[in-house]
Amino acid sequence: MQKRILLLYTGGTIGMKQDPVTLALKPFNFNQILEEVPELKKFGCEIDTYSFDPLIDSSDMQPEFWVRLAGMIQENYRRYDGFVVLHGTDTMSYTASALSFMFENLAKPVVLTGSQLPIGMLRTDGKENLISSIEIASSADANGNPVVPEVCIYFDAHLYRGNRTTKYNAENFRAFRSANFPVLADVGIHIKFNPNNILLPDSFSEPLRISTSLDTRVAVLKIFPGITREVVDAVLGMDGIRGVVLETFGSGNAPTAGWFVERVKNAVRKGLLVLNVTQCQAGKVDMDAYATGIALKNEGVISGYDSTFEAAVTKMFYVLGQTEDLVEAKRLLNSNLRGEITI
Ligand code: ASP
Repeated sequence: MQKRILLLYTGGTIGMKQDPVTLALKPFNFNQILEEVPELKKFGCEIDTYSFDPLIDSSDMQPEFWVRLAGMIQENYRRYDGFVVLHGTDTMSYTASALSFMFENLAKPVVLTGSQLPIGMLRTDGKENLISSIEIASSADANGNPVVPEVCIYFDAHLYRGNRTTKYNAENFRAFRSANFPVLADVGIHIKFNPNNILLPDSFSEPLRISTSLDTRVAVLKIFPGITREVVDAVLGMDGIRGVVLETFGSGNAPTAGWFVERVKNAVRKGLLVLNVTQCQAGKVDMDAYATGIALKNEGVISGYDSTFEAAVTKMFYVLGQTEDLVEAKRLLNSNLRGEITI
């Protein structure tokens, strides 16, 4: 039977054109994108399209948009075999991470893609990204089940688990990296899936559930040598926040100065959830490795393991939206919910 794919267009460089006056890139009509890719008609699957209005540069992305996007996928879940989301690269990793937490029992592919050069340009990377994403979203195994029932990002010949990615290059066609988790597929002459890395649902027939409650009362404290008490106070003492993502050095280390540890301790005491992620691009937090990490652990700081920053922030939104209970929130933050961390 022919596979059915829903192609959702949110905006981003892939569908932009240069404004002749300002020379800035601006979104253009979805039908024009489709005209740029006549190859789509050659697919052996049915492709329906939906364009968000207004289209956005993904730098304007907001959690409310994630809720709309997740809702669109849920509404159309039964009718399609897979979903391809065209999205700007700037915040694609945040969207992919957020969606991965918002979806429960996901049993169909949701592939996010975009491009570094608009699809109408001669050297565009958008065409290949789009065509391969559709092929991946419609791939089935011998039993007819989707090969990659995950929220993923396809970019420049690599398929990644979405919540493991970071945009790390603003110019290169290889814009994304998944430093702590291997790719789900390599794309060359053949699409080589790596089944051992792909998460499968407990059942392919259970309905999809989405959580639309995201609590954004989260702050970020990135430490650096020379950070002052005032900066730490300003972040940890902020009114109304429930969680802090603490970006630490190396394997989760922070200054051992009494004033710093004291402030973290007070923050945890007053009920803030403090999640420790490393500033390093690869590797994991291990708060037992150094005295500087042990001090944080003793004060109740939670390990972010090998989480990306994007996954840590969106996981906080999701977890805080799930529960008011500190113990339960801590338990969820400490758990591997959607393959986002290696424990
Ligand atoms: N600013 C654009 C966006 O994220 C960049 C891109 O699409 O690559 O929407």
